[in-house]
Amino acid sequence: MTRIDDPIPAPPATTASDALACSPLAGRLFGEIHAATLDCVHCGLCLQSCPTYRATGRETSSPRGRIYLMRGHAEGRLDDPALLAEEAFLCLGCRACETACPSGVRYGEILEKTRAAVREAQPGGPLVRAIERFMLREVVPRRGRLGLLVGLLALAQRLGLMALAQRILPAPLAERARLLPRIPAAAERRRMPAFTPAIGPRRGRVALFEGCVMPEFFGRVNEAARLVLARAGWDVVVPERQGCCGALHAHAGDLERASELARHNVTVFDPMLAEGGIDAILVTSAGCSAALRELEHWIGSDGRALAGGVRDVLDFLAEVGAVDSVSGRAPALALAPIPRRVCYDDPCHLIHAQGIAAAPRRLLTAIPQLELVAHRNPEACCGAAGIYNLTHPEMAARVLAPKLDALEEATPEIVATANPGCAMQIAAGLAGRGSAARVAHPIELLEEASRGSTNGSGR
Ligand code: SF4
Ligand code: SF4
Repeated sequence: MTRIDDPIPAPPATTASDALACSPLAGRLFGEIHAATLDCVHCGLCLQSCPTYRATGRETSSPRGRIYLMRGHAEGRLDDPALLAEEAFLCLGCRACETACPSGVRYGEILEKTRAAVREAQPGGPLVRAIERFMLREVVPRRGRLGLLVGLLALAQRLGLMALAQRILPAPLAERARLLPRIPAAAERRRMPAFTPAIGPRRGRVALFEGCVMPEFFGRVNEAARLVLARAGWDVVVPERQGCCGALHAHAGDLERASELARHNVTVFDPMLAEGGIDAILVTSAGCSAALRELEHWIGSDGRALAGGVRDVLDFLAEVGAVDSVSGRAPALALAPIPRRVCYDDPCHLIHAQGIAAAPRRLLTAIPQLELVAHRNPEACCGAAGIYNLTHPEMAARVLAPKLDALEEATPEIVATANPGCAMQIAAGLAGRGSAARVAHPIELLEEASRGSTNGSGR
């Protein structure tokens, strides 16, 4: 049996993954995967940070074990594509292992490439895969189709059909249906204005990235960002032609579609950046900002300018002095009290993929009378992980449970988090336990606190 510390041979010209690597794409990916896995020194310091390892106790379901599987297949020492695919898709992609790793292993990048290489062997059967691919390729990134689907779901909710479906569907489907949040009213799902001028002294001009799911389920979050930025002195442009970032496609192993979507956004934003027309492209969804900042993984140097221009909206606001005095300038926003007990929960794609943890807390603590309460599990994955809670509901529930325990102990009135998937997953989990706590994006609280604020002149 091959052991983890066996000497590593040079990658052979013909590998055990040839069955998968019939396509030139898979062959190229295995070469890149092999090179990237060489950074792992098998120290195991990442193991305890891994939710799937903690849940199963299996080495193959740990970051070290998965890297070993990836490398073994790339080198031709292992030949079990189904196992590699199962573990690659059981992984949450939370990247807590990257934060824990002292060797700088770029786990997220290797995982994306592995999923793309073994996509045909992923669990679930051809019908499920075909439905997932159709939804991701033909519905999610097409605003009209997604809007129509969400409109129909909203109607079904209003007529009580979703509640009925939850009662009559088989348990696995009913569980998935329960994750669907209350769909906002149509007014909240409208397009945002293409241009919003700064209020008070102008500090600059930014573009707002809308995303695909955000406008349909969390239009209020993007709207809050638009209002806060304008109050803080920024002209806000919302380019109409912008599209889905491709993160969900890349997580599902569809790097081709993710790359097409990335290239489309490059055509929209690169000219604005090149002309100096905007200072940054701001994003309210942690999953989207993480994907956009790493576009070079998908489309090489063509994605460099766009990736360099993207910022998480909270990180940007903290840096430019929205709530603190920066370079002798008064804080851009005047904030009214919100006397609420709030827990902030770190989205993996903010804390692990982008290293952003302090900025959201800084913005929240600046709100008078807001009591920011720590809970003991803020950095652990909630189990949402894109569409993971739909594809792996049991593991997602196991991963979520300790977080819900920690939140219940902390007894917040509001749980603040900055990613749509996390917001839905945590809200569904809290509701399932009968908690009255509501979930909000930190920018929504900042918007509430800054109503009436006129940049630089108080209220
Ligand atoms: S990304 Fe998360 S689930 Fe996957 S191996 Fe790393 S820590 Fe474990
Ligand atoms: S911490 Fe890094 S180097 Fe150590 S086993 Fe995990 S991925 Fe490999």
